Amino acid sequence: MRIAVLALQGDFAEHEAIFHRLNVQTCQLRQKSDLAQPFDALVLPGGESTVQGKLLRELDMFDEIRSRIQNGLPVMATCAGSILLAQQLLDDTTVHLGTMGISIRRNAYGRQLSSFHTVGKFAGIDDVPMSFIRAPQIEFCAPGVEVLAEHEGRITAVRQGNQLAMTFHPELGSDCRVAEYFIKEML
Ligand code: GLN
Repeated sequence: MRIAVLALQGDFAEHEAIFHRLNVQTCQLRQKSDLAQPFDALVLPGGESTVQGKLLRELDMFDEIRSRIQNGLPVMATCAGSILLAQQLLDDTTVHLGTMGISIRRNAYGRQLSSFHTVGKFAGIDDVPMSFIRAPQIEFCAPGVEVLAEHEGRITAVRQGNQLAMTFHPELGSDCRVAEYFIKEML
């Protein structure tokens, strides 16, 4: 099994480190030719969605990644990655990949609360560490989108078929259980 991590910007190295702890091989997607190598799933890391979306287009990786996701490639997205997947951005007219039936608001936690750490329940796993860093909020979900985690009434993780999106970062630290969920339930 090999997991490709989009490595244009953001915390892709942390995602790779978590999969390596699980003895899962990873590869980095940095340019269009990297898409030719074999991989079984894709990670869209946190970072800055505007920059990532721009680079995906400039490097001509955008259409192929979108069609692979539409054709069922398992994808795990955190934070900025979830913004890339959302069908609607509530405070921005730009839509990036737009493959997932969620409406998302960028930087929804405001300045003071823009970064915080908590633990919460995720799809039956208790006390998962959750780091929110200038996190977006998922405000609406289309039918068929399953809510996997919430924090104080706000949706923080959702799944729609082959797509898993989170507004927090489960990859910061050493807890591997969300990555394990992705591998066991979605690959
Ligand atoms: N606020 C960032 C954005 O809009 C996302 C932050 C993150 O990925 N931690 O892209």
